[in-house]
Amino acid sequence: MNARARGNNFILVVFDSCRYDSFVAARPRAMRKLGRVERRWSYASWTSPSHYNLLIGLMPHTNPKHVFASEYYKREFVKYNQRLDIDTFEFKSLVPQLYLPAFLRHHLGYRTHAMVSLPALNPQTVLNHGFDTFELMPQHNDMRAMVAKMTFSPDQPSFYVLNVGETHYPYALPHESREEWPRISGVHGVFKHLDEEIVGGRLVRRKRQFFDHTKLEELRQRQIAAVRHLDRVVEELFDLVPPNTWITITADHGELFGEDGFFGHGPVQHEKVYEVPFVEGKLR
Ligand SMILES: [Zn+2]
Repeated sequence: MNARARGNNFILVVFDSCRYDSFVAARPRAMRKLGRVERRWSYASWTSPSHYNLLIGLMPHTNPKHVFASEYYKREFVKYNQRLDIDTFEFKSLVPQLYLPAFLRHHLGYRTHAMVSLPALNPQTVLNHGFDTFELMPQHNDMRAMVAKMTFSPDQPSFYVLNVGETHYPYALPHESREEWPRISGVHGVFKHLDEEIVGGRLVRRKRQFFDHTKLEELRQRQIAAVRHLDRVVEELFDLVPPNTWITITADHGELFGEDGFFGHGPVQHEKVYEVPFVEGKLR
């Protein structure tokens, strides 16, 4: 046993692109067992900067008023004592690297693992620092395949970050064939770069070609259905984890479904691209 190893297992689940109101509309039952579902705000509008921020250790923020940012960060970092079940954690614990996986691995003796769905986060990126393993999953939308790979040791706590892709465009469940994926006539080109994660932007309204609100509503409903599906997968995760496990579930950013002429995320300045769900806790 590693003499320094101590603390809760810590699992950070990031539903890619999952809007707060999609999460709530899905009425998840399993995930609510962790605690109250909060509306929070992402620090960034797309995957890479948002995950970097999460891995610094900063969860989506509560948009607090009348407080200096430095004070807010200090308060936020103290919460790691509860998450990890330790009592010595503070902001300066992370200095100078400011990177949670490296800190957990080198200072607390954690095994650290990332399983990601979106190629923008692949193992060759700078995000892969302080991890024992870092894997881009073969399928972009299969959280169940991640859960199947997770193991826990009684001698050494584990940190897992799971970037989950079912909630990302095209909001497809793993059993669905590509032929069933949605297509929007006239605007499909905006969506074609799934691999590069460039799916955001303002849709151009041409003469006689309007935004298809019915289709966009269909997409929003697909994201809600994806959350419902993930609630069942999370329940399987709950059955798997040892008692001393803290789980945080959130999103890296939101998504636009036609509001004010926007679709997706990334180069979008809109409230809904920052609004994300946040729920965390320990099961027992
Ligand atoms: Zn993302």
